[in-house]
Formats: sequence, structure tokens, C-alpha cells
Amino acid sequence: MTKAIRIHETGGPEVLTWEDVESGEPGPGEVRLRQTAVGLNFIDVYQRTGLYPIGTLPAAIGMEAAGIIEATGEGVSGFHTSDRVAYAMALGAYAEERVIATDRLVKLPDGVDDHQAAAMMLQGMTAFYLLRRTYPVKAGETILVYAAAGGVGLILCQWAKHLGANVIGCVGSHEKAELARAYGCDHTILYRDEDIAARVREITNGNGVPVSYDSIGKATFESSIDSLAPFGMLVSFGNASGPVEPFNPGILAAKGSLYFTRPTLATHTATRESLDECANKLFAIVSSGQVKINVGQTYPLAETAQAHRDLEARKTLGSTVLVP
Ligand code: NDP
Repeated sequence: MTKAIRIHETGGPEVLTWEDVESGEPGPGEVRLRQTAVGLNFIDVYQRTGLYPIGTLPAAIGMEAAGIIEATGEGVSGFHTSDRVAYAMALGAYAEERVIATDRLVKLPDGVDDHQAAAMMLQGMTAFYLLRRTYPVKAGETILVYAAAGGVGLILCQWAKHLGANVIGCVGSHEKAELARAYGCDHTILYRDEDIAARVREITNGNGVPVSYDSIGKATFESSIDSLAPFGMLVSFGNASGPVEPFNPGILAAKGSLYFTRPTLATHTATRESLDECANKLFAIVSSGQVKINVGQTYPLAETAQAHRDLEARKTLGSTVLVP
């Protein structure tokens, strides 16, 4: 028996319940993990509310954790008992122990501790693919990043800075503005009060930005479009304020032959080769000290409902770790 946070129905944070469950024995290609740190991500909110359906309930949600292999199933190669590992994008992370297929796992280097790993795998691999694959940022470019003081945001700002970009970050408070600046933001926009597109034009001498990394969705679609330079790309990678409404693609022509894309880490880590590339680039930049992982808050795993309340109320800073 183990303990897990499960949902029996979709809804508010109150549907997250702390329960006894069977962790089970690993089957072929699987291992049983004792999890030492679990990552909190905004995708967990979408799954809890039903915005992203997860299939049969009840189910443990959560997509990311670090831990130690306790038992291996038949035919497992490359992973052994006592190995320190981590994963992202594998449903069922809100548990003290779990069974998981090894094709989702990566081994942790000595320099990366378990809390850091749980805080960074999902958000950091996302920052990597956004900046290096979706729109490869070049030195000297000025880019726009939303929720710049959040989990993905702080990593994205530092990584973009390392690539030589100038970073404009949208943030929800003065405290967040200060944090984002400490992590590489050159300019901050308090987007609850300020006109984003007008500020972006001011900062870029009227040119606009070549890319907007927009995780807010519905509330900021127009500001993103209006902030882009001709041929610019709106990378819509999240829906913190709700999904983007259906729109007429003609707007992309009218506003300057723009591009729109809606990527997900699931595709970018679907194969072992692609997962390893994302993980290794992340480990390298964190080990070099050029990207620092900010664990802004931790909660006992049993108190995940409170963590969800705080995340949705925009109270969290940086990344959040749930401790089993
Ligand atoms: P964050 O730590 O960034 O938390 C979300 C932040 O969004 C809040 O702190 C808040 O910052 C901002 N926000 C703006 N409007 C709202 C709103 N209406 N409700 C709640 N928050 C709001 O979360 P994560 O780092 O986990 O994720 C950031 C985003 O990236 C999410 O949208 C997530 O879905 C997306 N994502 C997408 C992935 C992909 O592959 N497509 C992978 C990983 C994450 P502020 O107060 O500064 O506005």
C-alpha cells in the first residue's frame, strides 16, 4: 500500500483526495519508484478541472517527479534498483510510490538533487524546446515572455538571456517583476495594469517582437498578436486564463503575415532520442550555472489541494515541489 492524491471527478481543488492505493508490481519494461519529490505544474490544474481529459477515474494526477528505483520488471535494461531518476509527462505522479514504464525515465546526474529535478524537468524541457525548436531565438533579438516569474517563466528568461536575447517579461505584481529581473528579464510589464502591446512597441522602437511565448491563452491572444513584428510567431503554449477562442486566420495576414503555433512537450519528448536531447540540454545548462532553478515554495504532498489553490490564485513564485 502507498498514499496518493487522486480525483474521483473533475472540479475544484476539493476533488483532490489523499488516499491509500496499491502501488502494484512492475510489469515488463516497468519499474517501481519511491518518489522523493513531485513537481507541481499548471497542466495538473487543466487535468483536475477536465479541460484536458485524462480518461478513466478515479486516477492519480500529476505529471512529474523524481525518485529511486525500488524494483524492476522483466526485460528492463539500462535502469537498476537504487538508481536516481526523474520523469515528466507521465500521469500519476501524485503518489509516494508508483509503477512507471522506463521509456519515460531519465537518470539524474549527481549535481542535480531530487527537489531541483522535480521542479525543473517538465518546465525546463519546455523552455528548451520553445527556445531551440519552436522558435530558435537568436542573439540580439527582443522577445516577449508571459508569466515571467512563474515556473516555466524564470527558466525561459534565464535561458533566453544566455542565448543573447533581450527579454520583455509580463508579470502580475511588483514582487514578481523584481524576481523576473533577478532571473534575466530586461524589461517587465505589469500586465494587470499596463497595455502590453503599447509597452512592447515602446521598448522595441515601434518594431514589435519576432516571437511571443504566450502561456496565458484567452486573455492575452490579442496583445500577443499586436506585439509581433511582421512575420512574427505567436507561440501559444498554455491556457492559464482559459483556452484561446477560435479565430479567423485572416487576422494573421492583416497583422503582418504572422505565424501561430500551439506546441506541447508531449510531442517533443515522444521518442527516447528526443526526450534525451531535451533532458541533456537541461542538465547541461543547469550544471553550468547559467540557469538556476528557483523552488519558490514546497508543500507536503498530502496538501496538494492548497498548492493548486495558490497556483490558480497566482500566488506562487518560480517552481513548486510537493514532498511525499
Ligand atoms: P506558472 O508558475 O507560470 O503559474 C501560472 C502563472 O500564470 C501565474 O503565476 C500567473 O502569473 C499567470 N496567470 C495569468 N493569468 C492567470 C490566470 N487567469 N489564472 C492563473 N494564472 C494566471 O505555471 P507553470 O510554470 O506550471 O506553467 C506556465 C504555463 O506554461 C501554463 O500555462 C502551462 O500550461 C504552460 N505549459 C505548457 C507546456 C507545453 O508544452 N505546452 C509545458 C509546460 C507548461 P502572473 O501573476 O505573473 O500573471
